[in-house]
Amino acid sequence: MNEIILKVENLTKKFGTLTAVNNVSFEVRKGQFFAFLGPNGAGKSTTIKILTTLLQQDKGNFYLNNQNDDIYIRKNIGVVFQENVLDGFLTVKENLLYRGALFLKTREEIIKRYNELKVQFEFESFENKQCRFLSGGQARRVEIAKAFFGNPEILFLDEPTTGLDPESRKMVWQILDELRKQKNTTIFLTTHYMEETNDADYVVIINKGKIVANGSPYELKETFAKDVFKVVPNNKAEYANYLKAKNITHKKIADSYVVYGKDNRECLDILIENKENIKQFELIKGTMDDVFIHVVEGGKK
Ligand code: ADP
Ligand code: MG
Repeated sequence: MNEIILKVENLTKKFGTLTAVNNVSFEVRKGQFFAFLGPNGAGKSTTIKILTTLLQQDKGNFYLNNQNDDIYIRKNIGVVFQENVLDGFLTVKENLLYRGALFLKTREEIIKRYNELKVQFEFESFENKQCRFLSGGQARRVEIAKAFFGNPEILFLDEPTTGLDPESRKMVWQILDELRKQKNTTIFLTTHYMEETNDADYVVIINKGKIVANGSPYELKETFAKDVFKVVPNNKAEYANYLKAKNITHKKIADSYVVYGKDNRECLDILIENKENIKQFELIKGTMDDVFIHVVEGGKK
């Protein structure tokens, strides 16, 4: 397994009586696509603000490459915040050149890096437009380019696709995929869209400030979103007897008998043993949505 790039230990942040981040610990490995998932108000932005040194935690600590000095951290990360932070009255180019001045010394170096980014993030066609006139998707692209100016090892993105149209969301995903493939950039991303975590290497789910589940999407689905196996039999009584005899817990919904938590092999056995009595069947794979409903909404009951 890759080295740990970010280690977070017992992070806690209170706002008055509200504990926005409650004793949160996790690790992110180099090159990972790490998804921090949770509903609105879960504590995602607060966590990102602490990890990017914008906000001071009350308790706990975190280390980037084993170091926890703010200046080192700021130098080695890129951040895209939830709110648009481009200067609307400056052009795309101006916004980026100002950013570059924080990282590079000479004008030549800054322009060279700018030109690389312009090609990589494909904004040549609107580089001289003032940022207030950009579409949501264009603005996001420029913000990611800006966060990437210093070639950070890790990029933090707080809900980068929220509020974007499907086309722009896709574009953002393409950019992030490329960064990972070409530069092995570690991506730390928060989202409340479950489907966006399907390709993540590791997912931490947070609710009301606390971690409620963590693992790879596969592990989470195995644990919290077992497949659903539906059968519509020709002869209901016969099939019901079979399930009863085999002690298989099931639910009858309209014409179908639904069995939860069986793996493919077990479903196949059921099918073979009832071959003549099967009118229709369906195996519905568990999704990250199911995981979320189980660990977040299930927690409300
Ligand atoms: P998320 O990004 O997951 O939607 P946040 O981290 O923004 O959640 O917020 C977590 C909780 O902390 C929410 O209940 C929010 O209202 C509260 N909160 C966030 N920032 C502040 C603040 N500056 N002052 C008071 N409460 C805050
Ligand atoms: Mg937020």
